[in-house]
Amino acid sequence: MDKKLKDHKQIGQELELFFTHDYAPGAPFWLPKGMVIFKELERYIRELTEKAGYVETSTPIMVKSKLFKESGHWVKFGEHNMYNLTLADDENDQHPESYTLKPMNCPESTILYRFRPRTYKELPLRLAELGRLHRREKSGEVNGLLRVRQLTMDDAHLYVRENQIFDEVSAILDMMIAFYKNFGFEYEFRFATRPDQRAGTDKMWDKAEKDMEDVLKKKGIKAGDKKGDGAFYGPKIDLHIKDALDREWQLATVQLDFHMPEAFDLKYVNEKGKFERPVMIHRAIFGSFERFIGILTEHFQGAFPLWLSPIQIILLPITETVNSYAEKLNQDLLELNIRSEVDIRNEKLGAKIRDATLQKVPYLGIIGEREMEDESISVRFRSGKDLGKFKLPDLTKKLRQEIDKKA
Ligand SMILES: [Zn+2]
Repeated sequence: MDKKLKDHKQIGQELELFFTHDYAPGAPFWLPKGMVIFKELERYIRELTEKAGYVETSTPIMVKSKLFKESGHWVKFGEHNMYNLTLADDENDQHPESYTLKPMNCPESTILYRFRPRTYKELPLRLAELGRLHRREKSGEVNGLLRVRQLTMDDAHLYVRENQIFDEVSAILDMMIAFYKNFGFEYEFRFATRPDQRAGTDKMWDKAEKDMEDVLKKKGIKAGDKKGDGAFYGPKIDLHIKDALDREWQLATVQLDFHMPEAFDLKYVNEKGKFERPVMIHRAIFGSFERFIGILTEHFQGAFPLWLSPIQIILLPITETVNSYAEKLNQDLLELNIRSEVDIRNEKLGAKIRDATLQKVPYLGIIGEREMEDESISVRFRSGKDLGKFKLPDLTKKLRQEIDKKA
């Protein structure tokens, strides 16, 4: 990493976003300002998925290990990669059971699918889940938000008919592109094929790989090869991005799965009243909130775009005499859902500007006697650029537009 650039752990501390602690290696503590970013991303992904016809679900974090044995994860993903606990009901329980902190949501998603008989009219059924997952990483390998033991995934499982694969995978790729363009990341797709350790028959794999190739071809997407790097249950298309530090990350993924519907005997009734097997599609847009926020933090070096900024504007009264006017403006901005703060410390303006700039607050509103007289705010950007005087309605309109664009 470039010497001048800070890593996300340092920025997380300085801007009071998040930190890790010895008490919970690999599981971040989120401070209020970090939680603002987390919640904004959560809102954004919910908006995107709702518009795309997904419905949101939630499944338990701790489940009996036998579920992962049935799904194939116990062997193929590896029981040593999960947290398994043997739990007795009480001290007299002679048959303690093994439980697992879920490392992924997929097997439990199939329980939702099996909740009642399904018909072709319900497909594609798109079940989203912002699930909290646990994966066993060695303590020496955990790294801030980038490599964690506890993660929150923007996960979804789609149950589709074979002739719906093309449209659904296409729509997911479009969603990924729209999402990453928004952040100004360079991105690239990779197509990952059957690994050595896999479930399902060669026939299943041939079909799944062919389907994904078709989507890539018809959409004119050139995808790099990741031979043998598919999930154990199916091939996948991953989206890789390059961050500001020129590092490459695999974030979004869409995976085709003919295996799990077989393993869990998933079915639906077709037009002729006969049972058919749905195909399962796994997808995530940013993968994990933790890692994505870690990457964003380093990418923007803490200077987040306005919509993600924990504080969007800070008002800086020059003298005590204008404090109450500044406080009133602050209140007005808060009521318009703009995350505003006012700095009424008894400090020189220069010091207030310096502190706000160090905190990477996007907009600084400077208020003196003159501004109070003509009911305005002198606005500057965190880069130091002077934007001139604004009346409150014009300023809020400008901020609102920028927030809504999520640029
Ligand atoms: Zn899955």
